[in-house]
Amino acid sequence: MVLDDKFASDFKENVMGRGMYHFYKNIQQFMPMLAGIVNRYQNKVQGVPSVLTFSAEDMVNLVLTFFQEFNPRFCDRLVDTLQEAKVIILSDKSKQDGICPCVVLSNDKLEVLLESCKDMNSLCTTSHEFAHAGSQQNVEKKQRKEQLLCEIESHFIEKVFAEWLVENGVLSQEDYKYKCDLQLHDLVVDCCRLLNENYVLEQLNHDYSRENLQRIVDETPYLEKTIREMAYGRSGNKTFWGKFVARYIIGEMVAQVLYEDYQKSPVATSMLFDEYMSKNAEFGLKEGVSFLIGENYMDRINNTFFPKKEHDQ
Ligand SMILES: [Zn+2]
Repeated sequence: MVLDDKFASDFKENVMGRGMYHFYKNIQQFMPMLAGIVNRYQNKVQGVPSVLTFSAEDMVNLVLTFFQEFNPRFCDRLVDTLQEAKVIILSDKSKQDGICPCVVLSNDKLEVLLESCKDMNSLCTTSHEFAHAGSQQNVEKKQRKEQLLCEIESHFIEKVFAEWLVENGVLSQEDYKYKCDLQLHDLVVDCCRLLNENYVLEQLNHDYSRENLQRIVDETPYLEKTIREMAYGRSGNKTFWGKFVARYIIGEMVAQVLYEDYQKSPVATSMLFDEYMSKNAEFGLKEGVSFLIGENYMDRINNTFFPKKEHDQ
């Protein structure tokens, strides 16, 4: 790839406009761990999930039944929130147009976009989006919570929900394994994206000249794609990898630790989660993560993803 001056100035504008150096400085503490995860967890996702054909209504009811068992208080508030919200089941057409399941505020009204039920992915996504909807409870609409926290709730709920589906005979063990493999795979892909982007910024060292960018591309051709996306976003839309992806990585790491706590003490952990959900607009990254898994959260994440026994060997 030969870069021209326009590319260099677009790149500079995007990177500076989005405060990327500042952003990476903020999450620098996680970078060694991300490299470790990439080295340790290269896995393949095998097989396909079983077909499930719940109606949209049955799917929603099944997920709400789960939430009721998970934590009745949280569920009651979630049901209230959903009654006020607009729940939309996406058609195949809107999916082709690139509209994904999500929770958005549109003219002060909450919209919850869901997929129709095809397999465990759509089921788990529904629990994921309901967890996001649950974070809107008791939260002043004007208050925006720390973006880096916002995928913890959804990843945690997906894990508890998948386990519940197995216990209740909806998912097979094979489906469950597929789900776990997929989560790890996605985590590794996301970590790679963040590491690449961080590496480009380090190499660049605030020098946005065309020559400097060209040097990086020549020395590390595999980063060309990353560099293009840093300038222009992903596949035409302006989603900027690092900032967008980081919330999924932090979400998955913290959720995994919290899930282990949940397996040891489900009631206490679901109550902690409920409390967190009702107040998380007040938290920054450190406060939010500390609230859920303790102030020693870095050690805890490390112990979960790199168990001690292996360290000692
Ligand atoms: Zn989400």
